[in-house]
Amino acid sequence: MTILPVIPTSPDTPDAVTTRRRVTMPPRHLADLDLAGRQAAVTKLGLPAFRAKQLSTHYFGRLVRDPEAMTDLPAATRDQLAGDLLPTLLTPQREMACDDGATRKTLWRLHDGAMVESVLMGYPDRITACVSSQAGCGMACPFCATGQAGLTRNLSIAEIVDQVVYLAGVAASGAVTGSPPRLSRVVFMGMGEPLANYPRVLEAVRRLTAPAPEGLGLSQRHITVSTVGLVPAMRRLIAEKLSVTLALSLHAPDDDLRDELVPVNQRWKVAEVLDAAFDYAAQTGRRISIEYAMIRDVNDQPWRADLLGKLLRGKLAHVNLIPLNPTPGSKWDASPKPVEREFVRRLREAGVSTTVRDTRGQEIDGACGQLAASELTAVDAGGSAADAEVAR
Ligand code: SAH
Repeated sequence: MTILPVIPTSPDTPDAVTTRRRVTMPPRHLADLDLAGRQAAVTKLGLPAFRAKQLSTHYFGRLVRDPEAMTDLPAATRDQLAGDLLPTLLTPQREMACDDGATRKTLWRLHDGAMVESVLMGYPDRITACVSSQAGCGMACPFCATGQAGLTRNLSIAEIVDQVVYLAGVAASGAVTGSPPRLSRVVFMGMGEPLANYPRVLEAVRRLTAPAPEGLGLSQRHITVSTVGLVPAMRRLIAEKLSVTLALSLHAPDDDLRDELVPVNQRWKVAEVLDAAFDYAAQTGRRISIEYAMIRDVNDQPWRADLLGKLLRGKLAHVNLIPLNPTPGSKWDASPKPVEREFVRRLREAGVSTTVRDTRGQEIDGACGQLAASELTAVDAGGSAADAEVAR
């Protein structure tokens, strides 16, 4: 693991130790607005509307987030635009890398002291950003570190988009060795439940997929929204007629166990949530991804593989098994490899396509379910990795 140098915080941001008091939404940022909204904002400042496009080209086209670097703008105009449309939303507290630089985690402090994390994952053919949609999470899944601390607040549209624009800039700098220098995929699999912050996540998706300079120009099909299974929001998403990929964190094929592992199941049962997921697949023609963390002696029995196979047989679905990642204080651990192999075998035998996800970023607590940005971690910024582990 490498601890990367932390970019100094700007002088007007209070020290991490003294932050964290009130939870408030951040000031407006250009990424909160579509192009027409930005033009209206610029006009309101008494500037010509074309400045909106110029600013957007810097931000979405060239991935420039710092107004000082927008040198083709006259200084006075730049200050005006920066003050109105480019507030600092994310202040990096700590950056960590592992897998020879192919996995990088950034811990951010938001304007009100709330903390979130994002992860960048490089592969030979692509780079994927894993972003947070909320500070904390209210879904309380007992095996997930994020779920343990509860929800702090929703992120704004721009706080979500800015994570991606930053990571796209890292990718473009060529820092992710062994990968093409272009961010091509985004997964909403960081902290938070994206569908519990529905309107903002949806607008963020629109911003990420609008062609530059309005947005980042990513393909909808290269965006994955992962959910615990908030059925009404899934139904709403079906009606949007988008072609983003939907991932469903199932983790158990039976209500008895899923009620415990994914507490929201007490409200929307396995049958209902799968129905909504299958309808999403039918509407979009896109395979849904069923996420299933393999937890030793909890959900990894052969009969559960058979039941899952029965539920998914013939459906437009793919199973992604995730070896359970360790989280602090958790009583559970990952299934042994032979058990995992047998689970895969049974699913495939039932005709269900199944893969096992690589546990990227475990070493830097950047893997699935390990994101637990805490104040302690931030205070520790600049300290050793071992200290951070203690702090957590
Ligand atoms: N709240 C959304 C988005 C988070 S995605 C959701 O739950 O789908 C993060 C994925 O990692 C989810 O599938 C989650 O269930 C899974 N996960 C959580 N804790 C984990 C752990 N300790 N090991 C492996 N996967 C975990």
